[in-house]
Amino acid sequence: MSERKTIYLCLAHMSETGEELKYVKEAFDTNWVVPMGPNVNAFEKDLETFVNRGQNTDRRVICLSAGTAAVHLALLACGVGPGDEVCVQSFTFCASSHPITYLGAKPVFIGSEKDTWNMDPDLLEVAIIDRKKKTGRYPKAIVPVSLYGMPYQIDRIMEIANRYDIPVVEDAAERMGSRYDGRALGTFGKFGVLSFNGNKMITTSGGGALICRTKEEADEIMWYATQARDAYPYYQHTAIGYNYRMSNVCAGIGRGQMTVLNDHIAHHKHVQTLYEELFADVPEIHIHKQPDDLRYDANFWLCAATIDKDAHVVGQENAYKEVIKTAVGGAAGVIHSVDTAVTDCQPNENVEALRVFMLDKMVECRPLWKPMHKQPVYDGTDVYTNGVEEELFKVGFCLPAGPYVTDDDVRYIVECIKEAIRN
Ligand SMILES: *Cc1c(COP(=O)(O)O)cnc(C)c1O
Repeated sequence: MSERKTIYLCLAHMSETGEELKYVKEAFDTNWVVPMGPNVNAFEKDLETFVNRGQNTDRRVICLSAGTAAVHLALLACGVGPGDEVCVQSFTFCASSHPITYLGAKPVFIGSEKDTWNMDPDLLEVAIIDRKKKTGRYPKAIVPVSLYGMPYQIDRIMEIANRYDIPVVEDAAERMGSRYDGRALGTFGKFGVLSFNGNKMITTSGGGALICRTKEEADEIMWYATQARDAYPYYQHTAIGYNYRMSNVCAGIGRGQMTVLNDHIAHHKHVQTLYEELFADVPEIHIHKQPDDLRYDANFWLCAATIDKDAHVVGQENAYKEVIKTAVGGAAGVIHSVDTAVTDCQPNENVEALRVFMLDKMVECRPLWKPMHKQPVYDGTDVYTNGVEEELFKVGFCLPAGPYVTDDDVRYIVECIKEAIRN
């Protein structure tokens, strides 16, 4: 038991042949250790080939320092500014909504539907009409997310967005390799966001990219990403820009990772299938599956599941008794300490007990994203919801699914969960 290493949710995983090092070394050998250069250009070309593959599109890709930066610049290019409103999925990681506030605009949170756990098209339309009634203006942009790699209801969201002529920024950070109707996610909206953070489908250590429709839009994004300079011999600025371009060293990692991307995607799908099989005879656990609709082709970035409210988990009597002293999960940096063990919106006690039980078994089992409209920082923000995402947050959890998760690991994880609920 003591020999067992922790099985994390999803970790960076380099190619076995060291392709990444080859490109990184090239950056050093040629002294391109700057936020531009041959690796960045080639990585962008690789990504363009990937997102345009098998479809009639000619999308451009601009590499940036983070997925969050990509959301920020996409919203900026949609004309979002102070006083504007943006409809964003509430059930997501904070990087989908925070950039709205960077621009002085206000998020309007949209609840999820039960099938994909993503933005509910009906609620979106209710919100659009109601915002127009209340403020006299339509929201400036719509940000749907593909949570855990699951495509959102793209046809319906796009139809509504087109009807009201509101641009869509697809937050595809978790779904590189997911497709809908044969087309890469991130190519349906005006912009599509990718992330290469350490825990995503592929990594550049940290980084992101923005999928753009036209060369003009891509140029504009590039301009903003490099401090918005005008063509003079000295630095002349007519707009506020950002330092968001990707490093040539990081892009080298990305080029190497592109050689294993398809393997990673296949592995995530394989692990998902195995979980689905092994949990088939565990009635208390429900794996989040893709809708019975052939258009959906999720990458299954993480395996998400729910556990029945009344399923008893070992140790749940002690859940939330102690104030947590360190970060749960992969959070880096400084975490503010807290003086209570509970908040007014948290996973059920059996979910927390399962997290603790699994940690003891050296398995990372993390809660789902806490809905943004329940975050104290967004207190008082408008929300349109049927409560689906809050209910899911109470009963849901994620399981490891990265490339290094073996079949034996999955079997072990499922056995541990059975042990937790059968004792
Ligand atoms: C990871 C992620 C991002 C952005 O990621 P970075 O860490 O800034 O690269 C944005 N949205 C969602 C939903 C994500 O999971």
